[in-house]
Amino acid sequence: MPEVGTEQNPLRVAIVGAGPTGFYTAEQLFKQKQYTVEVDMYERLPTPFGLVRYGVAPDHQKIKSVTKIFDRVAKKPGFRFFGNVELGKDISVADLRNYYHQIVYTTGAQTDRSLGIPGEELDGSYAATEFVAWYNGHPDFRECKFDLSVERAAVVGVGNVAVDVCRILSRTPEELARTDIADYALEALRESNIREVYMIGRRGPAQAAFTTPEIKELGELEDAEVWVPPAEATLDELSEQALAESSDRATTRKVEIIQSYAEERPTDKSRKLVLRFLVSPVEFIGDENGHLQAIKLVKNELYKTEAGTLRPRHTEEYETVPMGIAFRSIGYRGVPLPGVPFKESWGVILNEAGRVIDSDSGEPVTGEYTAGWIKRGATGVIGTNKPDAAETVDAMMDDLAGGQILDPANPGAEAAREMVEAQQPRRFTYEDWLALDEIEVARGEEQGRPRVKFTTVEKMAEALDK
Ligand code: NAP
Repeated sequence: MPEVGTEQNPLRVAIVGAGPTGFYTAEQLFKQKQYTVEVDMYERLPTPFGLVRYGVAPDHQKIKSVTKIFDRVAKKPGFRFFGNVELGKDISVADLRNYYHQIVYTTGAQTDRSLGIPGEELDGSYAATEFVAWYNGHPDFRECKFDLSVERAAVVGVGNVAVDVCRILSRTPEELARTDIADYALEALRESNIREVYMIGRRGPAQAAFTTPEIKELGELEDAEVWVPPAEATLDELSEQALAESSDRATTRKVEIIQSYAEERPTDKSRKLVLRFLVSPVEFIGDENGHLQAIKLVKNELYKTEAGTLRPRHTEEYETVPMGIAFRSIGYRGVPLPGVPFKESWGVILNEAGRVIDSDSGEPVTGEYTAGWIKRGATGVIGTNKPDAAETVDAMMDDLAGGQILDPANPGAEAAREMVEAQQPRRFTYEDWLALDEIEVARGEEQGRPRVKFTTVEKMAEALDK
């Protein structure tokens, strides 16, 4: 048998998860010109692009143009897409080990972190991750119901996801109608009574996780005025000192923008977006029907840890704010994959620089790798996953050179396709996706929108059959 990685015996790689990291990993693999590589990309949904399709906010279309790069990767000889094929349901790790030399898990982070406070499970308290997936038309979340008949909403956390949720709740139906938000979400938000949205940060403006363009954009909404209580916009002494010492210009700019929102301005806007800092929810309070009716907040102060970071500490000062709905937006968490070692405390696959590590022996699991959010946790923007994927591919190439790869019983591409189609007859190809994409965009054009998404697997299959 010729060596693995030659034209006669290509290196066969399975990538599990067709989000940005999956594509960056494939791109990096195809750059290894000394080897002939074949990539089969598995995705449990029929459509590729993961969070670019189902996470990036519908009013942030520019960010989605990164898919052009992914389309180019998908055109490379040796690339195949197996959509609607789920690891743990339609195929197993053992199957993959029978057909590939290397496997890379790039499944991202699909669930939310919890606050761990009383009342978190009340009706009206939701994970922001669910709301995001719902308004983006994710097939698994389209049936979710959010009671938008209330007047005041809270979003807990001050990261970019919290900003996305605040914006979507605060935009007018006309603004939303220019986006590719799911049709049902557009209708629900059209009927929304929410007039006040509170974004709640446990630390101060200088520690806010959102980025400058995102916070600036909140000041540009058509019918929502953003406001920060002046006392909370003012930096405490420790933050002031830390900022001066760091001369961090991005944070300085961010703080300036936040402080500009503390100035009272005359406004005729009908909605209000209130940014709160140095407060933490300590309880979600329900009514007699178990529905959220208020949030109890405690005021925090910052203290310096030994490592020099500023952390929040509760004071004795409390307030209760009437609240009809709340979204917890304090970070995403990875979900374990059946048969893959997992580090529960971090919500990531157990790994060292991308090599999956066996939980018992502490040694690398031959042929298995990971990249992206499921490797390092839910941090960074889409582009952060590119160098992350490159690190993993470096490890894969080192192992290939050192002969540390799997020895699959059926290494042929044809055999892999037959196995998948036997186990999931309704699999979607990349050509299927390109056809769906064209139909969605055409449906959008009729309405002056970027696209109108299909939000069920059945409708996607039906459209292709036509
Ligand atoms: P994130 O950036 O990690 O923000 C999480 C927020 O939750 C922080 O403000 C954090 O405060 C807060 N938090 C954590 N635990 C808390 C608790 N127990 N009580 C109160 N607050 C708590 O996470 P994310 O917003 O989910 O975003 C994930 C990643 O995607 C980020 O890297 C983000 O930049 C990226 N993203 C980017 C865009 C974009 O580029 N437009 C859009 C969406 C997401 P502390 O700082 O005090 O921990």
